[in-house]
Amino acid sequence: MSSAGKVRRLAAITLAAGAATTVVASGAANAWNGDRTSDVRHAVQGGKARNVILLIGDGMGDSEITIARNYSQGAAGRLNMDRLPLTGAYTTYALQKANPNLPDYVTDSAASGTGWATGRKSYNGAISVTPDGKPQQTILELAKRAGYRTGDVTTAELTDATPAVLASHVVDRGCQGPADMKNCPTNAKENGGAGSIAEQEVQTGADVYLGGGKARFAQTVKAGRFQGKTVVDQAKAAGYDVVTDVNGLQSARPGKNGRLLGLFSDGNMPQEWTGPLAKTGGTDPSRCAPNDKFSGPHLTQMTSKALNVLDDQTRHGKKGFFLQVEGASIDKRDHAADPCGQIGETVEFDKAVKLARDYARQHPDTLVVTTADHGHTSQIIPLDAQSPGQTATLVTDEGAQMKINYATNPAGQSQEHTGTQVRIAAQGPQAANVVGVTNQTDLFGTINRALGLRH
Ligand SMILES: [Zn+2]
Repeated sequence: MSSAGKVRRLAAITLAAGAATTVVASGAANAWNGDRTSDVRHAVQGGKARNVILLIGDGMGDSEITIARNYSQGAAGRLNMDRLPLTGAYTTYALQKANPNLPDYVTDSAASGTGWATGRKSYNGAISVTPDGKPQQTILELAKRAGYRTGDVTTAELTDATPAVLASHVVDRGCQGPADMKNCPTNAKENGGAGSIAEQEVQTGADVYLGGGKARFAQTVKAGRFQGKTVVDQAKAAGYDVVTDVNGLQSARPGKNGRLLGLFSDGNMPQEWTGPLAKTGGTDPSRCAPNDKFSGPHLTQMTSKALNVLDDQTRHGKKGFFLQVEGASIDKRDHAADPCGQIGETVEFDKAVKLARDYARQHPDTLVVTTADHGHTSQIIPLDAQSPGQTATLVTDEGAQMKINYATNPAGQSQEHTGTQVRIAAQGPQAANVVGVTNQTDLFGTINRALGLRH
């Protein structure tokens, strides 16, 4: 290790110790009276990172974070994501497809992901293409080309927007498998395009893909070398070990020259927790429970495996890795006005943040970033508020009641994203670039700089 590396490692250890002290004290009324100037100064590091771990909580706005914190840690407690030393906010707006000079103030995960993955804004539904449909190089593609190993992990289908923006380019997010191409004629294989999201992900060739979406990869390729075969066949021909359950995940050893594709459910992966859905007029005070129908690996198990494989593949090489980890169903349960579902996903995502931080403690030249792609519906409101929307009242682990409101659409309809800025927090080389109020597209530049891809 270089002496700079030693200094960085010391700084990281000091910070970690400082964070732990803060957490222990955070129940006390004067927890933040300490002078943190020195901790923050140590947290600011320029230079290059060997590895980047980017964790995206889909739909994880400040409100979703606070709800999960209140429920699981207590109002004065802290989540793992709260312990990242450098924090800012970023704006998430999309562009109007018909008039890209004007903003669309509420983004979806596709436009949002296109922003952070390519550094260019686009319209809702765009998967790493410009408003006129041109593919834009993604951070994963650039990292791979520069010799980094790459990974893409999600609890949604692997062809859903957030994992898709890193490794594919289509004009509509719905074009997930070869049978789903009706909105993307120019991208279809049979028309000479690069194919569906699933096909393009295999062609891009990230070293590790883990998530749901088995049914998309079971679809039949319509043209080209793999015509008549499934996308899974195409993946196997490209060197992927394909695994479909926890045992397969844990025993997979793709090695230095292998690749790993985990497809653990037909669609999105199951949710961690269950509880009462919000309803008009509210619910009785309730507790959340583990989902007894849960099957397949947890996000933490996928994250841990991805880190092991990528660490293994890069240990003796010059270059490290880029890994994206998405907690996708925070968003999906928020759409469904399901507070326990949403909290369970946020808590599991937060444990994945801890794994990333544990890795960075051992490898201090790792940039860890945690953020969201957009805000969402849920709000904490007073217990006696008479919301016209749907509400649920939960009894938190610390024994207080918390009333959560969903009111961006009428009952019975999917609740909606919001256009608020969201939190971005980081540690490691280049982490200072998340401080203040930035734009979502700035994250692309931060990761580029950290990996030395371009300046
Ligand atoms: Zn959504």
